[in-house]
Parts: sequence; structure tokens; C-alpha cells
Amino acid sequence: MQADTTHTPVAIIGGGISGLSAAWSLQKQGVQYTLLEQSERWGGKIRTELVDSPHGQFVVEAGPDSFITQKPWALQLAREIGLEDRLLGTNDHLRNTFVLNRGRLTPLPDGVMLIVPTKFMPFITSPLISWPGKLRMAQELFLPARTDDADESLADFVRRRLGDEVLDKLAEPLLAGIYNTEPDKQSLLATFPRFRELEMKYGSLTRGMLAGKRSRASAPPSKYSVFTSFKSGMRELVDGLLPRLDGDLRLNTGVRSITQNADESYTLSLSDHSRLTADHLILTTPAYVTARLLADICDVAAELLADIRYVSTGTLSLAYRREDVPHPLNGFGVVIPRSENRPINAITWSSTKFNYRAPENYALIRTFFGGSRTPQTFDLSDQALLRTVRNELQAVLGITAEPVLTRTYRWREANAQYDVGHLSRVDTIESALPANIYVTGSAFRGVGVPDCVNQAQITAAKVAAGLKQRMMS
Ligand SMILES: Cc1cc2nc3c(=O)[nH]c(=O)nc-3n(C[C@H](O)[C@H](O)[C@H](O)COP(=O)(O)OP(=O)(O)OC[C@H]3O[C@@H](n4cnc5c(N)ncnc54)[C@H](O)[C@@H]3O)c2cc1C
Repeated sequence: MQADTTHTPVAIIGGGISGLSAAWSLQKQGVQYTLLEQSERWGGKIRTELVDSPHGQFVVEAGPDSFITQKPWALQLAREIGLEDRLLGTNDHLRNTFVLNRGRLTPLPDGVMLIVPTKFMPFITSPLISWPGKLRMAQELFLPARTDDADESLADFVRRRLGDEVLDKLAEPLLAGIYNTEPDKQSLLATFPRFRELEMKYGSLTRGMLAGKRSRASAPPSKYSVFTSFKSGMRELVDGLLPRLDGDLRLNTGVRSITQNADESYTLSLSDHSRLTADHLILTTPAYVTARLLADICDVAAELLADIRYVSTGTLSLAYRREDVPHPLNGFGVVIPRSENRPINAITWSSTKFNYRAPENYALIRTFFGGSRTPQTFDLSDQALLRTVRNELQAVLGITAEPVLTRTYRWREANAQYDVGHLSRVDTIESALPANIYVTGSAFRGVGVPDCVNQAQITAAKVAAGLKQRMMS
């Protein structure tokens, strides 16, 4: 071993929530690790700015603004590290989503679950879907169910079951929107596997959703709202984990290359010109970075990793004096179907959705741009972007006043695209990896924070089991 080379049982590459969760999980199992992050900050896509302004404090999210509690892993992690008291649910009495429909804000009818109506009257009286569209949706109850387990695109599924209009007005902005993707490419099985399960079990998505609603109604209500954050924003999850991690944590330490040694360990060349040998590697980096790092070790996995597409997205948050916003902001925000041809994708009314996001008498609004829907907006200069977004806020919400604060965040090549066949690709990648190398994170089996936590925990358990076996043999 050279003088500048150190050794670790496990090197975790990438200090986003996946890397941090893997570290915490290993630590709980008594495994030593080194966590390497190339930037000067922990958290990756989780980034909250607490902006102290002359108007008071704004809590501005650059990435995720919440996590879903129906997938329990992020919630469990938060409770485990003592953040129970810091959890902050959405203001559910104001829960309402608007869809931009021919330039006008139209509320999503009460009872629509994802894309399926579960209440008759609000849906029948809503102008969002035309009468022919509603009749087409009703046919869903009588269509034969698909019975094989092959993947298909979200668009094919929705067209097949519910018709084109539901795809245009609901599925595209709501379900493809979450993934910043195109529904014609989006894998149903990787993103909404439950739809296929319900179709197979109940013969109809609508019947399945209604059954789910009935069983939830008879279960005791959850103490947590479906989407939950923390009083000072998502960064609390990262800030809460860091002081509990007692491993070797290195910021400003990017991994430049990896080579395999004769004894099945690996040597990492680091950006500070030092080297690290590791018995096990957990890579949580974006798939195209992981592909580069593994190119010399496993070309099959590297090629498949490089095939995972990414898009760039951004958010622009604007704060206003409440009196300058003519709209009541009586909901969580607006989704914008692709067919509306607008330069932004969605708007969240952050200070309605959550308390503590803006001082009293101010409103915080977050807009989303880029991705496959509005890539041209991603490349605008900051000034042109602000002009574009303000024009949109004027058109949609009637806001003409100057914002008191703006914050723009661009995430270049940041969102993995789960194209049709994604899960089989991931299976093949995993089986092609050399011994003791693991990949995890948002490129693989779920992009949301809870999915990242879960995948990291599963990976850490495999690594801990591998190390134990090695010690015993
Ligand atoms: C705008 C936006 C909004 C979102 N909203 C939500 C939401 O509301 N709810 C939700 O659940 N999810 C949301 N997500 C998704 C979620 O935030 C991410 O999927 C998740 O945080 C990804 O975590 P990760 O650790 O897998 O990856 P990342 O956070 O990308 O972390 C990877 C880390 O690897 C580091 N790295 C890269 N190359 C190297 C190298 N060579 N050496 C060392 N380190 C390296 C990077 O610097 C980075 O810190 C959102 C994402 C975005 C962009």
C-alpha cells in the first residue's frame, strides 16, 4: 500500500440521502465505512435555504419539499434519529390541486385518487373532463383486464383503460409530472406498479381504487399527513443524520476512478490525489457517473448504466407580499398539462401547503421548469427565466407585483428517467456487477426520498451480511 493510501471496509460514494442512509444503516450493524462526497455540501438533491430577509425568514426548498409517508422508510428514519417533534404535515384542510385547463384554473374534482374518480357527483359536475371523456372513463369498469406481467408505458396503460382525455388532463401532468418524463416512454411497472396490480386483482382500476378507499376508511386514521416535511424544511433530515454518523466522512472528495485489485478489493483514486482501498463499494452516484467509474471493471454493467437517460430540471421560488397576490392560493398548487403549451410545468403554493415557509402576510410560490416538457426554459438566462416565470404568474394567478425575493436552482442531468423496461435493465445491471460492488439510489428502484432510504438500507444489509460471511470463512 502506498503512503497516501488508506483502507476502509466499505466505501460509500455520494453523500445524498442514499449515501447518508447507507452509512447510518451500516453503522447500526457495526460496520465501519468511509463516505465520499465530491461537493462541499451533504444532502445531494436535498437542499433547503433558510433565507433571512428584511421581511422575515423564508424556507426555500431547492429539491424535494416533502416525502410520502405511505412508503414508511423516510418517516421511520426521521423518527429513529429523533426528529418526530420536527415533522410537519401539509395543511390538509386546504388540500386542493388545480389543473390548468385551456388557460383557466380548474380544481381537480374532490375524490379523484391519482387519475381515478372515487366520488360520483364532484366528478360528474366538474368541467375538467368533457362528457365524451367521462363516458369513456365509465367504460373502464367493463374492459377486459390485461393478465400478463410485461411492462408497458404509462400512456398505453391510461389510453387502454381510461382514454386519451384522462391521459392529457390528469395522467400526463400529475403522474408523468412527478417523474419529469414523457408518458409514452414512462415505465408503468417501475413507476405505478400498483395500477397493474389493481387491474389484475379487481379486473378494473376504478374498482380497485374504490376497494382501496373502502379499506382505508375502515382503518384507523394515520397520525401523519400523506406528504410530510420538517419545520425548517427537508434539510432537517440531513442535518439530523450527520451528527449521528461516526464513520469517516469526507466532503470535497470526488472519486475519479476505480480499479480492481487481485484480492478482490478496490482502489479508488480521489480528487484530493489520495487513494483509498475498500473491500466493498456502494455507489449512489447518478447512473452516468457510476457508468464512468465502473467502465474499466465491468463493461456490461457500465453500458447499461449509461443507457439510463437523465433530464435537467429547475425550480424558481418567488416570495410576494400577500396583498400583492390577487389569487386566494386556496390549494397546494397547479399542474400544467403539456397540451397547454406553457413554458413552465407546475406551480406549488409553498406557504399554503406548509406552515413556516414564509413570514405572516407573505406568500411563497415555487415554479418548476425543464425536464422533457419545457427543456427550452431550462437553458434561459436567469433574467429571461425570471421574466418568463413572472409572465406565467401574471397569466395564471394575476400577479403583476415585483417579488420581494427570488431563488433559482438548476439541477443539470439530475432526474433519472424510468423508461419502459427499466426494472429488467436494473436487474441485469445488478447481476452483472462484480463481487462486492453495489449500486443504489434514485436511478434504480424509486426516485422519491423514502425509496432512496429503503434501497440504501437493503444495500447496506447485503454489504453487512457479506462482511460477516467473509469474517467467518
Ligand atoms: C427539484 C426536485 C424536486 C424533488 N421533489 C421531491 C419530493 O418532493 N419528494 C421526494 O421524495 N423526492 C423528490 N425529488 C427526488 C429526490 O430528491 C431524489 O431522488 C433524491 O434526493 C436522490 O438522492 P440520492 O442520494 O440517490 O442522489 P443525489 O441526491 O443526487 O446524491 C448523489 C450525490 O453524489 C455526489 N457525487 C456525484 N459524483 C460523485 C463522485 N464522482 N464522487 C463522489 N460523490 C459524487 C453528488 O454530489 C451528490 O451529492 C425531487 C428531486 C428534484 C431534483
